[in-house]
Amino acid sequence: MYKVTLIPGDGIGPEVTKAMVKVVEASGVKIEWEEVEAGEALIEKYNTAIPNHVIESIKKNKIAIKGPITTPIGKGFKSVNVTLRQSLDLYVNLRPIKSFKGIKSRYEDVDLVIVRENTEDLYAGIEHKIGDYGAESIKLITKPACERICEFAFQYAKNNNREKVTGVHKANIMKLSDGLFVNTFKEVSEKYDVSADDLIVDAAAMNLVLNPEKYDVMVMPNLYGDILSDLCSGLVGGLGIIPGANIGKDYAIFEAVHGSAPQIANQNIANPTAIIQSAIMMLKYLGEVEYAKKIERALERVFLKGEKLTVDLGGNASTEEFTEEIIKYL
Ligand code: ATP
Ligand code: MG
Repeated sequence: MYKVTLIPGDGIGPEVTKAMVKVVEASGVKIEWEEVEAGEALIEKYNTAIPNHVIESIKKNKIAIKGPITTPIGKGFKSVNVTLRQSLDLYVNLRPIKSFKGIKSRYEDVDLVIVRENTEDLYAGIEHKIGDYGAESIKLITKPACERICEFAFQYAKNNNREKVTGVHKANIMKLSDGLFVNTFKEVSEKYDVSADDLIVDAAAMNLVLNPEKYDVMVMPNLYGDILSDLCSGLVGGLGIIPGANIGKDYAIFEAVHGSAPQIANQNIANPTAIIQSAIMMLKYLGEVEYAKKIERALERVFLKGEKLTVDLGGNASTEEFTEEIIKYL
């Protein structure tokens, strides 16, 4: 019996996490959920969207799965996601992007993995005003952070029989910061028997649109990872299907790549696939590979059949109908 911290989140978060819990339970795996609230609704009471008891729960259970949480723009609140990643030192953001047969999209054979550095770069939160004239954000890149993220990428490639790791950067312009990233990438690559190459981020954006099937594992600093993950989700059917994991040495938090999508919240139309796929990643991380595969096969069959798809995938099934369909195949 595993104990997992469950954070429903904001916007479509509660609907999609509810669907995920139903599917995971129907698979038969034994999980005890410790539900804790975080998000916009708590700001008034706690003056933060992520009260301490939430972090304590994750520290205790070591594993969490969460719905998206809204960060109010320009109000001085630090992003919940950034706070969690930094305070639990979840230095890896892992995002597998894979085509499903049956989901209409521009490409059919995409199977790549984005390994995004999760703790520094322009997300370090080092910003200040220059009087009324402007503002400055510091892009922090450190050797230890480059080392551990590149090590993770190569180790992941090795353990998952992946053929190539591509390091993405902009070292032609940011010679020192991105230069450090790409040099470290090259150093780490020499320790592994996996092929490696590197690519400038703008070229990566174009090549991913032209020939996404040429890419395998891609490792990059935080901001490029943020942007290219959304781009890649667009290659295979959109944000509604792409899962993610934030992984550190001691803790892991699984979550969809998409945000809280407030425009479609509380309408029973959101696609829960992204968080269900995040749960599949979580089960694999826990070593429950058989349950993970069982859910994966059920999802594949739902897409292949194509009768009960959510609106974002061109269907007209509700969140609940889609969820029931998955459970039927379990
Ligand atoms: P946030 O500020 O929290 O990121 P957002 O409005 O940017 O919220 P996103 O989740 O980032 O919302 O997604 C942008 C759009 O993609 C949404 O408005 C929605 O149309 C679509 N979308 C995202 N996730 C889903 C989903 N799970 N199911 C259906 N559509 C989705
Ligand atoms: Mg968004």
